[in-house]
Amino acid sequence: MTELYSKTIYELHALLAAGEVTSREITESVLKRIDAVDEKVHAYITVTSDLAREQAQRADERIRSGSAGLLTGIPLAIKDNLCIKGIATTCGSKSLAQFIPPYSATVINALAEQGAVFVGRTNMDEFAMGSSTENSCFGPTRNPWNPALIPGGSSGGSAAAVAADECIAALGTDTGGSIRQPAAFCGLVGLKPTYGRVSRFGLIAFASSLDQVGPMAKDVRDAAMLLNGISGYDRLDSTSANAAVPDYTDLLGKEVAGMRVGIPGEYFTSGLDAGIERAVRESVRVLEGLKMEIREISLPHTEYAVAAYYLVAPAEASSNLARYDGVKYGFRGGEEGGLLDMYTRSRSEGFGVEVKRRIMLGTYALSAGYYDAYYKKASQVRTLVRDDFSSAFRECDVIITPTCPNPPFSLGEKLHDPLSVYLADIFTVPASLAGIPGISVPCGFTEDGLPIGIQILANFFREETLLQVAHAYEQNTTWHNRKPPLAPEKDLISFK
Ligand code: GLN
Repeated sequence: MTELYSKTIYELHALLAAGEVTSREITESVLKRIDAVDEKVHAYITVTSDLAREQAQRADERIRSGSAGLLTGIPLAIKDNLCIKGIATTCGSKSLAQFIPPYSATVINALAEQGAVFVGRTNMDEFAMGSSTENSCFGPTRNPWNPALIPGGSSGGSAAAVAADECIAALGTDTGGSIRQPAAFCGLVGLKPTYGRVSRFGLIAFASSLDQVGPMAKDVRDAAMLLNGISGYDRLDSTSANAAVPDYTDLLGKEVAGMRVGIPGEYFTSGLDAGIERAVRESVRVLEGLKMEIREISLPHTEYAVAAYYLVAPAEASSNLARYDGVKYGFRGGEEGGLLDMYTRSRSEGFGVEVKRRIMLGTYALSAGYYDAYYKKASQVRTLVRDDFSSAFRECDVIITPTCPNPPFSLGEKLHDPLSVYLADIFTVPASLAGIPGISVPCGFTEDGLPIGIQILANFFREETLLQVAHAYEQNTTWHNRKPPLAPEKDLISFK
């Protein structure tokens, strides 16, 4: 029998509903798994076993009383930038290492009300800034497929936790690719919803006009089930969309024949890894085999997306992070020398190098005299990127691209080359700038046995379409069934 921890939400829900297992048993199985492998993977910053056991017990009572939902009793991992009342929420930063939120994020309240079980807080790049999870003040997470490599980021802890079966599914957040890229690197399904689909209330802000919470799961159905659990209007988030939420599992299994798939030439350029290109082209043939109609399209402003993103995101970050001054929020440095010295010390010691780099970039881009040349210009480019997608979606239902141009790199390899890391966000940031939804689905393996992801994009609020196509693809391939061979201890290099 396969272990409970390796099952999906869908499978476990069926077992729970039939009374064949209890949430307590599933939760113990997951906690034991964390105990056995997290020393190697380091997916978690905090394991919340007491909370999980208490929630599991309540879930079991609920199941017995017949009032359970689809997520009741399911152990989930939560990225450490989503506030959970009374539980340390660090954002991967020394500046918030002691922060215990007095309230929970709306998505957390929603999942808790549905009876989900929270097994722990996952590691992440500090304030979600990064692509490798190496920018965490708690040390990096490892890729379960090869512990010498990064799992991707910034939701690398959530991705590794799902891939290593240290939870059943997880929440991540995506500002410029932080759900989709680690999902691709760890062989999972990760979905960034349309901006406004999921509440940001209680998500510690990085770049508010881009941040979205989304599911990371073992397969497409689980991603749809988890998305159902977190979507919807929230009056506490002024950018939340007051639009009806469909059941995201409704279109799974429905015919995709005749749907139009756009392939943007701009995403298949010289920087793309040959193995990834092969896998993505092969996936397009699978969709063709399902009688989808394939068309070449153009998204002409793609090449400017990274530059625009790395102005908009740091600009918003510099503003959002102004509150961590050691008084209003965050780590406080020594008080000698007076107030200004204390502020300086709090921020110099509380933030890591990448966060400081972004604050400086953003402050510069917003400063008087440069605002028009940088922030305003970047915002105009953002509109052009969005318009590219609007025109494309007049002639296709979904767009297919690689999720990332390269496979995961080695831990430490790019610590001193931030620019090359930024450039690798090229395929994920356009959808973030536009605000449209995107999903990454496993589509093959490199010659070195590392997972590859294909990205599917759809128009605003068309998550059902994304999931429908992703599911049709998944059901006609077997990539999602492979599990990482967790390497033995001796392969590990030290954390810091
Ligand atoms: N890698 C991108 C960045 O560093 C995206 C991060 C994210 O989506 N949170 O900004």
